[in-house]
Amino acid sequence: NEELKRLATTDSLSGALNRGAILSILDEEIRRASRYGHELAVVLFDLDHFKLVNDIHGHAAGDETIRRFSEICKRSFRGTDSFGRYGGEEFLAVLPESTAQGALDAAERARQAMAAERFSPTLVSPKESGDFAATASAGVAAWEAGLDADQLLARADNALYRAKTRGRNRVEAHGQGETRRGSPEDLEG
Ligand code: GH3
Ligand code: MG
Ligand code: MG
Repeated sequence: NEELKRLATTDSLSGALNRGAILSILDEEIRRASRYGHELAVVLFDLDHFKLVNDIHGHAAGDETIRRFSEICKRSFRGTDSFGRYGGEEFLAVLPESTAQGALDAAERARQAMAAERFSPTLVSPKESGDFAATASAGVAAWEAGLDADQLLARADNALYRAKTRGRNRVEAHGQGETRRGSPEDLEG
């Protein structure tokens, strides 16, 4: 039964929790945070230029990159944190009793470890390629009283979007530096 449950909640490619499992943990943690007034934060990751990774180095190398990214994240987060595959090359970490700063630190550890990793291209790679690096961007959001899962994820997704538009391979947090976008200093470039 334990094994059946594990299979039902695990993503077979990455070994991380699957989407349903990580989202149900998020709901549960939001309930606990509301009830006990605990801190709670989430990190949404998205691998950078992943279409290009597949295109240049081969789909199998892309799959391997997803697997290794998942391993790196498991090492970067605490045992009480949960980590799951949110979509194709998107991952969600749920950090109970963590502030935004704690989540930023953990996401930054994962980001740096990923950037330092090297991957091998698929043997029959679509385009000629040697070992390659792959990076991830992340958006962090801390739960606040009254926020439901969708609202919390929307905040993390906005921060992730900002990490992408500010050059990728970086971590941004909700509520940090939002005013910069489109501000006069940006226009002055
Ligand atoms: P960005 O930096 O803006 O995120 O660029 P991107 O190319 O990553 O953009 P996007 O998120 O639109 O594309 C994700 C790509 O990830 C598309 C899809 O082919 C690839 N992908 C999704 N799931 C898998 C998978 O399981 N294996 C492999 N190899 N590729 C996948
Ligand atoms: Mg994506
Ligand atoms: Mg991507």
